Amino acid sequence: MPMKFTSDPIPPGSTIGILGGGQLGRMSALAAAELGYRVHIFAPDARSPAARVSDAETVADFGDRDALSGFADAVDVVTLEFENVPADAVSHLAELVAVRPGASVLGVCQDRVAEKLFAAGHGIATARFAAIDGPEDLAQAAASEFPAILKTRRDGYDGKGQVRVNAAGELSDAWAALDRRPAILESAVAFRRELSVIAARNSNGDIAVFPLAENRHSGGILVRSLAPAEADPVIAERAAEIGRTLAEQLDVVGLLAVELFETANGELLMNEMAPRPHNSGHWTQDACRTSQFEQHIRAVCGLPLGSIAATGRAVMDNLIGEAAGDWPAILSDPEARLHLYDKGEARPGRKMGHVTRVTPL
Ligand code: AMP
Repeated sequence: MPMKFTSDPIPPGSTIGILGGGQLGRMSALAAAELGYRVHIFAPDARSPAARVSDAETVADFGDRDALSGFADAVDVVTLEFENVPADAVSHLAELVAVRPGASVLGVCQDRVAEKLFAAGHGIATARFAAIDGPEDLAQAAASEFPAILKTRRDGYDGKGQVRVNAAGELSDAWAALDRRPAILESAVAFRRELSVIAARNSNGDIAVFPLAENRHSGGILVRSLAPAEADPVIAERAAEIGRTLAEQLDVVGLLAVELFETANGELLMNEMAPRPHNSGHWTQDACRTSQFEQHIRAVCGLPLGSIAATGRAVMDNLIGEAAGDWPAILSDPEARLHLYDKGEARPGRKMGHVTRVTPL
């Protein structure tokens, strides 16, 4: 099958393929529908939250080449809502159809060591870190700063695949708890707060960066975002510059979310990047001229980017596990905007929805 020719802009009425079927795909699909696009979801599970609001779904494993080829044939462009799509699947698709963001972006963002080296190479600070790929690295890491956090290099999310290490003596057990997978040992940052920026970049190279969000976590899971965050203008501008620089240098087409730690002396350290819509950007649905999901669609279809101007001050709370059961009370609150993901079973730690409350700027 020859590579499809993609000419920008990809017009409304075209079909956008999305890899992954979670809530980020669902909200991207809803935004795509608003602009007159069709969406085809590729996900391993049938009737995923994203597929339930889309035109078509392919239910297959990311290793299934025939299914990937059929999907590529059915869509005009491919994007993703989940960055841990296996590299082989992305390179196979990229031979057939435009994949945005592309394989090189994923190669960096799938690996915590690669993304920190990339940031450092572009003048962006990170926590001190060491790669732990084998027992020799572990022995050397005993000389690192503690407390520290040991994380798997790949596939971690929502605090999974992470262990706090208080002293060198705990390293060996910590690594065993991660099944001795390739890991990164990071110094624990005594941050003042956590921030994030989301940059959008389209195929013309235009970039727009959303206002800064301040994020609160519990047990490694985002629970609340406040945006636009109250911040010294110098810090807000530096955060936006970090988002712009990384999106440009990675040659992202789509979105790039960058998680940052703000230290007591006003330094910003990059924690991680995600080349997709991000939980800390959900507030844009209700308090920004353009939502991150619409911006994602605009960027991957080569459309002009939308305004990133905030229209209010938002507090976004995730509804995790049973919390989504509070929907009747939330709906009775005139200030609340409820978003549910139709995930069925409310397992502990599972993101079931979110609620955003907006006050005037
Ligand atoms: P991550 O999966 O890297 O986003 O980590 C999840 C959460 O763990 C972060 O949002 C922080 O709250 C915390 N965390 C991760 N890395 C560090 C670090 N090096 N120092 C302090 N806290 C961290």
